[in-house]
Amino acid sequence: MGKIHLLDDASINKIAAGEVIERPASVVKELVENSVDAGADTIRIDATMGKKSSIRITDNGCGMSKDDAALSYIKHATSKIKNVEDIETVRTMGFRGEALSSICAIANVEIMTKTRDELAGTKVIIKGGKLISIIETGAPDGTSVFVNDLFYNTPVRKKYLKSDSVELAQIIDVVTRMALGHNGVSFSLFNNGKEILRSPAAELLDTIIHIYGQEVARAMLPVNLVAGTIRITGFISKPELLRSNLLFQSFFINDRSINSKAIGFALRDGYGTLIPKGRFPISVLKIYVDTKEVDVNVHPTKNQVRLSHERDICDMVTRSVRDALSGKNLIPEIKVPSKQSQQSLLYGEPAYSSPMVKETVTDFGPSAKDTERRLRRSERFGEEFEKPTGIEMPQVRVLGQVDSVYIIAETGDGLMIIDQHAAHERVFFELVRASKKDDSQELIVPINIELDQREKTLMNETIPYLEEFGFRISEFGSGTFAVTAVPIVLGKLEDPLMVHDIISDILSQGKIKDETGIFERVTKTIACRSALKAGAVCSTSQMENLIKQLLQTENPYTCPHGRPTMISFNRQELDKLFKRR
Ligand code: ADP
Ligand code: MG
Repeated sequence: MGKIHLLDDASINKIAAGEVIERPASVVKELVENSVDAGADTIRIDATMGKKSSIRITDNGCGMSKDDAALSYIKHATSKIKNVEDIETVRTMGFRGEALSSICAIANVEIMTKTRDELAGTKVIIKGGKLISIIETGAPDGTSVFVNDLFYNTPVRKKYLKSDSVELAQIIDVVTRMALGHNGVSFSLFNNGKEILRSPAAELLDTIIHIYGQEVARAMLPVNLVAGTIRITGFISKPELLRSNLLFQSFFINDRSINSKAIGFALRDGYGTLIPKGRFPISVLKIYVDTKEVDVNVHPTKNQVRLSHERDICDMVTRSVRDALSGKNLIPEIKVPSKQSQQSLLYGEPAYSSPMVKETVTDFGPSAKDTERRLRRSERFGEEFEKPTGIEMPQVRVLGQVDSVYIIAETGDGLMIIDQHAAHERVFFELVRASKKDDSQELIVPINIELDQREKTLMNETIPYLEEFGFRISEFGSGTFAVTAVPIVLGKLEDPLMVHDIISDILSQGKIKDETGIFERVTKTIACRSALKAGAVCSTSQMENLIKQLLQTENPYTCPHGRPTMISFNRQELDKLFKRR
């Protein structure tokens, strides 16, 4: 990989500056990138959480000579570029020469490294940016960087760290993207000595199986498009396999994991009307372009890039997705070996193969059946609960619905406009809030939910809270959870997708800050997912029913998120609006 040297001032000044180490996951990202750049084909990450937390990255890459090791932790020391012009053609993940120095400045670091040609290895110990010792030592080929006491001298940053499980979830996210981006490299991630993720050095689809599981892999379609110097490959999910957040979308440009709203939109465009609002396909898209077309020097963490022909590339992404979905792709159908575990035979097919999933997708807007079911669920409860303080029940005559979103009604001498989703959310919010652990309903067929490692980590700390609401959940395989009972408000649940969404929504909100916070969150999420959707066509009697339910709530005026549920104008206000005296 060449020798390490210091960049000149002119180059340093042109390199996007800024902090790169914000949290343990950033340490993992930078060190894993170094291992990839060193040509390693096996990378192991050890994350120890808790009081004595540490991170160790071990690779079998090219290693460093003693001289290089002694320079590696110096700011702006790199072997990857000579000067700023080289950034135009750089193919390595790193080039700023700042990762090791930033990490060493705020931690206690031990680097063990050995090149293949040398007999002895080198051990360097640095604390708070200062060299403590550098000695010759026996070591395997490759490099291992051991980071302890991260942020020991930056207490403010330490204070902003989140709970262990949230920090671990971030690490898993980083390793997941790295493994998908560099499927030719084998990754393993251990937490407190326990292996929690492993991906082989293999074809991308194999990596997808290891990261997201068989069920997901089985529903993936290959993407392949070459036009001029641009090439797009990867996998996208069939429209029946969608998620409720963006964590399952990875985009790579020249193997670098990047965030790009534009590419996200382009991907979505490719699906056209096949995906409903608020749901997202799973995707691993790798875009290869001439290095001159990408400016990687726009952000210190390098997860954003500037593309010279972004519009063209986005158009190609859309086209490649459309082709993949229309079966134009020439790559034969993917065959994933079916290896059903005993447990999944016991509990039946996992949630994703449910026909419900297809129903939501093929229908435009929620079906009449769905609307009726949702209204019924909250109605049954409206009767069981005492009518709370509520407001005076006015005479309401429904006049109609606007754009399947707003209900227009006449009240006495005035006019009322109701946001049907917000209104129904309020109804459910109060029902869920009043429900207890015992208001639980056993499911005839348990719902299996396959979670990825990131979600799984958060799931374990979330289960007790979900159970307070009447969920009963048990883990029975790596990453698979069975929901055996649900809160009674969810009704006789034939809707595994909704349960998955509720759980996935709660998990995607990350950290559990405090008990009240999580209860609020669960309540709101269940309410939001149970409520009538904006876009649902309602009959007059359904609208009347909803208004009746709304007016029985304690606070009918706002939804749980604080938006108004209704706006009303009395006769005087209407007169004023029309300048009538
Ligand atoms: P950059 O990656 O931007 O060059 P870093 O601070 O991350 O900067 O690393 C400095 C240098 O240390 C690298 O250029 C590389 O030569 C060397 N280095 C770091 N990690 C490794 C590793 N795992 N294996 C071999 N060399 C490494
Ligand atoms: Mg680096």
